[in-house]
Amino acid sequence: VVVVDVQGNAVGDTSGGDVLELPGFVNAHSHAFQRALRGRVEHRIGAGAAAAGDDFWSWRSTMYQDAARVTVDDVYALARWAYADMLRAGFVAVGEFHYLHHDVGAKPFASPEMSLALARAAKDVGIKLVLLETAYARGGANKPLSDEQRRFAFADVDAFLAHVERSKKLVEPLGASVGVAVHSVRACPRPFIERIATFAREKNMPLHIHACEQQKELEECRWEHGMAPVALLAECKALGHNTTLVHATHIEPDDVERIRASSTLVCLTPSTERNLGDGLCPISSLAKAWVRICIGTDSHARIDAVDELRSLEEHERLRTEKRNVLVLPNTRLAQALVPRGTWAGMQSLLLRADTGDRVRFAMPIEGRAGDVAAGLDALFVGGSSKDVVDVTVAGKDVVKAGKLVTADERDIEDHALAVLKRLR
Ligand SMILES: [Zn+2]
Repeated sequence: VVVVDVQGNAVGDTSGGDVLELPGFVNAHSHAFQRALRGRVEHRIGAGAAAAGDDFWSWRSTMYQDAARVTVDDVYALARWAYADMLRAGFVAVGEFHYLHHDVGAKPFASPEMSLALARAAKDVGIKLVLLETAYARGGANKPLSDEQRRFAFADVDAFLAHVERSKKLVEPLGASVGVAVHSVRACPRPFIERIATFAREKNMPLHIHACEQQKELEECRWEHGMAPVALLAECKALGHNTTLVHATHIEPDDVERIRASSTLVCLTPSTERNLGDGLCPISSLAKAWVRICIGTDSHARIDAVDELRSLEEHERLRTEKRNVLVLPNTRLAQALVPRGTWAGMQSLLLRADTGDRVRFAMPIEGRAGDVAAGLDALFVGGSSKDVVDVTVAGKDVVKAGKLVTADERDIEDHALAVLKRLR
């Protein structure tokens, strides 16, 4: 076994072996129920809006159809499926960006049942969960909630924060922790953002925000506030060392400085960003400013930590027409990627480092030939989550020989299958 540390360095006996052991990966951005969309949104939908070309907004209308229909039991089934796949892919922890707060038809629950379903799903498969209770208040600037969005929203910010407290009481006994999120500057008015930022700061909770994913969001924000989203978030005191901006695709040079100066993190979700046609984040400008960057699998079209990390570097190569863009002089690819897949994700979710969180991969042939550094980089260039052999979470076996051992894989699949049949 060759052990690799959180910096991506092979440590201890590096003479070779058949196994590479890394710290467990952190999936900092997930919408578990969106797993049900995989393979169902890769076609052009009729004429009308889609005639101009399919994009994020047409994808969102299909996503909303599911969001309007899924029950508590469906969300449990989809989350257990997604979380099981995460463990098999080497993720040991997940940040669930959760906004499906009410029952079908936007009927309020007596207690936060969806939060409980997500916490149960995580506990049943053995992944660490940070439940990011997400605020959603409106359809956009001067735009009321649509019917589908009413499931996401509370009457006001006090009702939302009371929900966060109730959720905490319910899910913490199951081992989950709770943070907060502002869905976006589009979905929350300024007073919401300010209150939730203050709440997160006072409670020392992680605060996550979708930011600058789509050009339309920037246009709307400039129209409403006279500035782009990152500048607005800075004015709302929503940036800081507990804050993570998710996507940061269409940021400007001034934004990089705002993010750097406030010690804010950025979470990129490359497989989802390319699937949705979001655009490319200028990641090297963030990396040069030493901004902490972590990863997430977001809509879960693909759940693969290796691919997500590789894509940080490879998307930037395509954007800049250069190679080894994130790789510092005299270092290697794995050293640029491993900290972003592990350490930065823990910082984003305010999780403690845990030496019991480990993932073992089959050693690529280059490593078995004696060049361990090439073997490790070969994993990131050419490998995938399918090369995962064993995973432990907090020292407990969760995956052995590629199979989940904490729950019945067949049962997880059958349950997800029943949900997919109904959503078809
Ligand atoms: Zn998202």
